[in-house]
Amino acid sequence: MDCTRVSLSVATRAPTGQTAAYVLGSDGALLVDPAAVTDTLDETLAERTVDHIAVTHHHPDHVGAVERYAAAHDATVWCRYGRAADFETATGVEPDRTFVDGTTIPTADGDVTVVDTPGHAPEHVGFRFTDDDAGGTPAYLVGDLAVAAGSVVVGAPQGDMRAYVASLRRLWARNPETLYPAHGPVIADPRETCARLIAHRRDREDRVRDAVHGGARTVGDITDAAYEKDLSGVRDMAEATVIAHLEKLAVEGQVCWDGAEATPA
Ligand SMILES: [Zn+2]
Repeated sequence: MDCTRVSLSVATRAPTGQTAAYVLGSDGALLVDPAAVTDTLDETLAERTVDHIAVTHHHPDHVGAVERYAAAHDATVWCRYGRAADFETATGVEPDRTFVDGTTIPTADGDVTVVDTPGHAPEHVGFRFTDDDAGGTPAYLVGDLAVAAGSVVVGAPQGDMRAYVASLRRLWARNPETLYPAHGPVIADPRETCARLIAHRRDREDRVRDAVHGGARTVGDITDAAYEKDLSGVRDMAEATVIAHLEKLAVEGQVCWDGAEATPA
């Protein structure tokens, strides 16, 4: 199946300032993450029929042009089962159909399979397809699950660190050839990237746990102890990340966390 990537300039806190929309299939295609209306995306879509539109998750830098392209192509709009109301709030469109893990979306070039990948956002999904560009091997659109360099935000209250790490582990186990992320370049070494992202979370988690065991109690103090870099401009995201780690550690019985103060378990 053909996979066409179109980079769109959007208001995003991703360092690239861009979100990649993807078109899977050359006819009866599935459009994923139409974040904005652009001439390039219009031209790409004019070359084929678009039968389906879906998003990896509901963040504003992924959904901005769902309404416009759904109307322009009279496409079936899909969303995660159980998330229809949130989807409509985010996109302005009432979904026509819902999917769950394993649902197939048919294009004229074959099926695309929905894969649950929660963590970055609760409704986050990926899309598995057969990749013509890589000799017909399995590939995944991974939205904000993975990036080639750096990391994505997994922050409370939306982000769930346990779910995020589990999603990365499942993707590692599936061992695809290629990952197509929403931000940054295409990922040609999925296992190495998943392992790097899991190790990054484990390192941060160790620092958060050590900070609590070392006497830090508040999110501010734990954040100061868990990060070495200058956090100006990103402190809110760092603190949201620390809370997500504390929630994971609390569920696992490694710290006590009451929403305001953390103490050793
Ligand atoms: Zn996102």
